[in-house]
Amino acid sequence: MSRQFGQRAVVIGAGMGGLSAAGALASAFREVIILEREALPASVMSRAGVPQDRHPHLLLAGGLQALDSLFPGYERDLADAGAVPVNAFKDIQYERPDVGALPRRDCGTTLLCASRPLIEHTLRRKVMAIANIKLQTQSRVTEIVPAASRPLVKFENDAGVGAAIEADLVVDASGRGAPTLGLLDVLGWEKPQETAVGVDISYTTAVLRPGNVSSDWKILVTLPDPATSATSGLIIPLEGGRWITSISHHGAPDRPKTWEEFLAVARQLKTPAIYNAIYKLLPPGGLRHFVLDESRWRHFERLERLPRGILPVADSLCRFNPVYGQGMTVAAREAKLLRGILDRVAGEADPIEALQAAFMSEVGAFLQAPWNMGVNADFAYPTTRGERPEHYEESRQFEAALFRAVVADPVVQRAFSDVLQLMEPFELLNEPDMRRRIEAHSLAQNA
Ligand SMILES: Cc1cc2nc3c(=O)[nH]c(=O)nc-3n(C[C@H](O)[C@H](O)[C@H](O)COP(=O)(O)OP(=O)(O)OC[C@H]3O[C@@H](n4cnc5c(N)ncnc54)[C@H](O)[C@@H]3O)c2cc1C
Repeated sequence: MSRQFGQRAVVIGAGMGGLSAAGALASAFREVIILEREALPASVMSRAGVPQDRHPHLLLAGGLQALDSLFPGYERDLADAGAVPVNAFKDIQYERPDVGALPRRDCGTTLLCASRPLIEHTLRRKVMAIANIKLQTQSRVTEIVPAASRPLVKFENDAGVGAAIEADLVVDASGRGAPTLGLLDVLGWEKPQETAVGVDISYTTAVLRPGNVSSDWKILVTLPDPATSATSGLIIPLEGGRWITSISHHGAPDRPKTWEEFLAVARQLKTPAIYNAIYKLLPPGGLRHFVLDESRWRHFERLERLPRGILPVADSLCRFNPVYGQGMTVAAREAKLLRGILDRVAGEADPIEALQAAFMSEVGAFLQAPWNMGVNADFAYPTTRGERPEHYEESRQFEAALFRAVVADPVVQRAFSDVLQLMEPFELLNEPDMRRRIEAHSLAQNA
């Protein structure tokens, strides 16, 4: 496949979704232009356009693998920049209300923990090393103008000076899908149905100084019993020997405003492990907050038609509840899906149409498993709003048996780890041998 898809692809947004997609497209187009509204920092630092980047961002092993295959050497570069290797589950203290802490077995997978700015910065450097990708900053896309053959993308700089560029393919990785939704409006075409799940997740986060957390784990997760509490805690390591800790709350109540209040909430978690790890410390940068009201799947994939050459990806298509750490990994894996489709449809008479049709028909099935995993867990909290997924009770019973099996059976734990890390499809847990192992731990079976 060499550039036969056209002259130019335009990607809107230089977040994890846009950068990953640009890398996937580079060999298929003469040039790929990423339009990003912000001025991007030259060093590793937070930026205003991605306010969530001050909160913990776990890059799951499935995402790391996808990025490394799209950008060979990404994993090594991230590790060289100081990301911390974490073995699942040997280095992870994962505390659940039903079965307690999961066994710390080596499930054969290593993830790399780092701040979101470092994860993105490392990716941006990889992308910028690709000769035919151009990253154009301070270029806010205002509109996609429809055209029979090649859509026109209009954008403007900080001074309001406008410009426009034609593209064979426009990938909307702007995070909210506004350019694509605006285009549907202009055309008067049907908008996508949306599945929204109201979670009102509030995050309160602090970064801790190097060397201060002493523990025999590298990641600590403490989950509540949703019947009695909606508060979870998390600590993960960052580059530079630092740690980041977060309290998240379903149902967005009052949030801790001071470090003392943060510690008081940490003390009341299901176990005192997080409190014990941090109570002597003081975060130098204070607390940061974030509230996300809903996870939201815009079902572009169900539309009978999309304007030619338009592809919404990553959060523009589906924004997950962040507590399950899926968004960046899904974005990277969507880019891999795109890459695989490009290879497959390269010989078609109209490869752009074939690419768009294949991506939209495959992405829905791909999103379903991570979406279900999160939403099923969300509905255990009484404050969650929206429609319960089909077969909800069945899924909850399966999950209860699954965690008992994870504790008892190393084979199940390894499979669960691979599914959780989005390395393997959820169906792995439904294969006959695995199903038998899990069902051996269902309460009905044991009665
Ligand atoms: C609190 C929180 C914690 C999270 N934790 C995790 C985690 O642990 N693990 C994980 O995998 N994911 C996590 N996520 C999700 C993750 O941040 C996103 O899924 C991921 O960043 C992919 O997003 P994206 O590239 O689609 O959008 P974004 O990262 O939001 O990037 C969109 C980009 O588009 C630019 N842009 C927007 N509009 C325009 C425009 N009109 N023109 C030009 N540019 C534009 C923005 O400036 C930005 O650079 C978390 C999210 C939140 C809110």
